[in-house]
Amino acid sequence: MTVTRCLSPILFAWPRPFPPESCVHSLAPKLSVNLFHTMPPKKRPATKAQPALHQTTIDLTTPTSKRPRKNDTADVIVLDQPDTDAESSPPPTAKRLRKNPDSSSSSSSGAPSSSAPNRKSIGKSHPIPTAAAATASATTTAGTTATPATPPEDTTPVQNVLMWFRTDLRMDDNRALSAATALARTVGKSVLAVYVISPQDHRMHDDAPIKVQFRLRNLEMLREKLDKELNVPLAVLTVERRKEIPMRLLEFAKNWEVSHLFWNVEYEVDESRRDASITELFTHHRLSTRPHHDQCIVQPGHILTKGLTPYTVFTPFKASWLNHLETQKSPTTPGSLALLDQAPTPTSNPSTARNAHASLFTDPAFAIPASLPSLPLPAHQKNLIQTLYPPGEPAAHARLTAFLTTKIASYHLARDQPAKDGCSALSPYLAAGVISARQCLRAARRANGGKLRTGKEGVVGWVSELAWRDFYRHVLFHFPRVCMGRAFKQETEKVEWAEDPRGVKFKAWCEGKTGFPIVDAGMRQMKEIGWMHNRVRMCAAMFLSKDLLLDWRMGEKFFMQHLIDGDFASNNGGWQWAASTGTDAQPYFRVFNPHLQSERFDSEGEYVRRWIPELKEVRVPAVHDPSGALVKEEFEKLGYAYPIVDHKQARERALAAYKKALAK
Ligand SMILES: Cc1cc2nc3c(=O)[nH]c(=O)nc-3n(C[C@H](O)[C@H](O)[C@H](O)COP(=O)(O)OP(=O)(O)OC[C@H]3O[C@@H](n4cnc5c(N)ncnc54)[C@H](O)[C@@H]3O)c2cc1C
Repeated sequence: MTVTRCLSPILFAWPRPFPPESCVHSLAPKLSVNLFHTMPPKKRPATKAQPALHQTTIDLTTPTSKRPRKNDTADVIVLDQPDTDAESSPPPTAKRLRKNPDSSSSSSSGAPSSSAPNRKSIGKSHPIPTAAAATASATTTAGTTATPATPPEDTTPVQNVLMWFRTDLRMDDNRALSAATALARTVGKSVLAVYVISPQDHRMHDDAPIKVQFRLRNLEMLREKLDKELNVPLAVLTVERRKEIPMRLLEFAKNWEVSHLFWNVEYEVDESRRDASITELFTHHRLSTRPHHDQCIVQPGHILTKGLTPYTVFTPFKASWLNHLETQKSPTTPGSLALLDQAPTPTSNPSTARNAHASLFTDPAFAIPASLPSLPLPAHQKNLIQTLYPPGEPAAHARLTAFLTTKIASYHLARDQPAKDGCSALSPYLAAGVISARQCLRAARRANGGKLRTGKEGVVGWVSELAWRDFYRHVLFHFPRVCMGRAFKQETEKVEWAEDPRGVKFKAWCEGKTGFPIVDAGMRQMKEIGWMHNRVRMCAAMFLSKDLLLDWRMGEKFFMQHLIDGDFASNNGGWQWAASTGTDAQPYFRVFNPHLQSERFDSEGEYVRRWIPELKEVRVPAVHDPSGALVKEEFEKLGYAYPIVDHKQARERALAAYKKALAK
């Protein structure tokens, strides 16, 4: 589904999904838009004010980061100030823009002039058809009845159309791509694709080398597929500094006679700010931007409590999420659900595109780098990445099919057992958008006779996990402070974290040497293969935030730096859940006992022995608590760490610290 071109960046960070109309102008003086345009009509609350969820506003003119910043407690993000030089510098002139290296060759090679029009015509009035008709057909088939039937009038004459891939590295069932190709086709123009690498963004977002490498390999597959099947070139631009991205995209658009830029929305604050800058810059240059909602199964802002507030507890969220899904039937496919409908198959570029944009297909300047020098892959991961996580859509779908045919039936029984191969291991693909949550849910529903709530227990359990994924995205959409290192439960900011002289305890946790086998096994698994089982993520996170009483943000960052599936919303949500600072958090007094967790979920000690070679020969039950179960000499022969805390005492200390903070 599409949204108005100026609307998305503001609405996405708006804590109250349906702001009173009176707020619109003060919020976005430079972007005059109708913020109500994407609202589901039945939920439109007229001018009813929502309870204030915000505390302050943020100045966007300074560089941003997702790391903690002392005074950021905001839930209102002002997005109309560009994080770019564009405001103060003059609009780019033809001189400053790189010349289209193919424009002369395309005419000499006989490409029809329609595929290589004079770039000066961009934004000027001439008889090229407008985008409105194509957008209408793309949005109504995109899959939600909540989308307004009539999209906003967009009178920008259509030239080439640019698809900007981000965390949606797939060709199939990609709403923005479908809509982009539909628009280009109506006027016989080309779709060009772009992917931007910003090393600064990777650093500031703590992206793991294995995650970045996985994206690069998937980009290669995507590029090949776009080239072969759609005749669409994919250009990779490396832009060191994030704030330069809008200008580089504008230059690219001007050089390649692009009139419309399409993307699928990312909901995090930095990304929303970036998109706001781009929207403003493009609008200023009379180019159109077309964000689409594709990352969640249910679009953030489309489900609210009866009091029209965001859900902050998972169980009612899930009930509402299922209702929302099930009440909207597919207009095209009997028995299907509209929100699970596949995006229309993208259409191919005209054959002339290859000549008209030859250098985009072949110029090494647009090639995908083999790796990023600033994020070298650890040597031991070089081979395993290909074996464990083969790139590409076919690999992701093969994994989904294997899971649905052989594992999902017992998912509810096996999913908590880290030694078993009981879950889908699709998270790296979902995080990079190589497969979408919608595709997964559609396939799971099909495998369950069209049911989501009943039927096979394993499927019902898996549906819940996909709902968790949506839930955490809705949370950051409504409460953007969680993107800025703040706790969801603001009162927990007062917890006094423990001292850790020289970072000894944190280091032991990072290295998997805490002396608690289940925690250490998880940390070693993550460092080895870039992935950790969900149950163990919970144990490791709770151990850091409760047993060690160290700030959960340290662990959140360390996870991001090592996970191949590092995903801000899920990681932050998981950490805040474990630390009892988040939505739907465990009461702070529920603290996992790592020994009991190990006994319960790794009853044979298989998982622990697999990842901790020192314990290879230790049998159950000693393997769960070797220092407690073995005599001193025997234990010391193993070379395994003594526990760095006494769990009982650590638990008491954590309870006291949380109690004190919450009483303040
Ligand atoms: C502290 C902590 C940090 C986490 N960090 C991340 C992260 O960076 N990236 C990430 O994708 N997941 C994260 N999770 C959630 C979960 O651990 C992983 O999604 C899951 O382990 C991936 O394995 P799978 O693909 O086999 O999942 P399956 O059990 O097969 O589930 C299918 C999909 O549902 C989603 N999902 C499952 N569980 C959750 C959950 N609890 N929260 C949100 N989505 C979920 C994932 O996209 C997953 O791929 C974290 C959980 C915790 C407790």
